Amino acid sequence: MRKLRSAVMKLPLMLTCREFEDFVLDYFEGTLPTKQRVIFDMHLMMCRDCRGYLAAYRRSVALGKAVFEWQESLVPSDVPEDLVDAILAAKDERYPRT
Ligand SMILES: [Zn+2]
Repeated sequence: MRKLRSAVMKLPLMLTCREFEDFVLDYFEGTLPTKQRVIFDMHLMMCRDCRGYLAAYRRSVALGKAVFEWQESLVPSDVPEDLVDAILAAKDERYPRT
């Protein structure tokens, strides 16, 4: 127990929300080193704002992927550009930078 505690104390737990954002991309790509991943997860547990941010990011990634695949699968002349623009605009709104 004591050993665990000292190990936990050594981790730089005070990840800021700003740093959290910097880790998000690596987190999604699965390239986040284990130690950072642990810190990231801890921040996620403690910070409601970042949970919301991550959820919005995840939706944006899924939406972006869906739009890309959808565009790929359609004949260009059939794509209503207004709709694509609207979706892309909505995507930007979903994770505002503060
Ligand atoms: Zn946060």
